[in-house]
Amino acid sequence: MEIQDSMSNDLMIKWMDVALNKAEDSLRAGEVPVGCLFIYQNEIIATGNNRVNETRNATRHAEINCIDDVIEFCSNKKLDYHEVFRNIDIVVTVEPCIMCAAALHQLQVHSIIYGCPNDRFGGCGSVFEVAPIYNSNVKIIGGVKAIEAMQLLKEFYKGTNPNVPEEKMKKKRKQKEKNPEKKDLLDCI
Ligand SMILES: [Zn+2]
Repeated sequence: MEIQDSMSNDLMIKWMDVALNKAEDSLRAGEVPVGCLFIYQNEIIATGNNRVNETRNATRHAEINCIDDVIEFCSNKKLDYHEVFRNIDIVVTVEPCIMCAAALHQLQVHSIIYGCPNDRFGGCGSVFEVAPIYNSNVKIIGGVKAIEAMQLLKEFYKGTNPNVPEEKMKKKRKQKEKNPEKKDLLDCI
């Protein structure tokens, strides 16, 4: 039975389509294709995508960018951000990594709805379950349009996306050849 304050399946799919469009924008920009929405009172108050490469900052994940936007939103509207975060539903195309999941549990968001699992960094159970550390009961729902979300990641890692300029691909290959041992920033979701 549907819990009364949970988002309906139709609505989850509707929002996930919007998040997937954001992820496609990232793919075109040469970033890891992850799209994220923060929904408050049935409206998107922050949208984010991964900006790790653009900023050369490995912490600029889609969720972290959205958190910053919500804090600004609250400051502009003179709202208590603790209260606002508790009523936010996160819709994100890929399971949040351990860093982002920890941040979302600390903020006690209302729910996290994600697309495909993140087998390398996932903080909602794929690699590690963050929730018990924070004694958190944030609702987590995974697998919403997972195939579509995974397809975008596959395109990115194959490097065959026709929207990424050839120059960028060459640079990426060169970096890998130079530092085969060094973990590529692009590998961090
Ligand atoms: Zn993350």
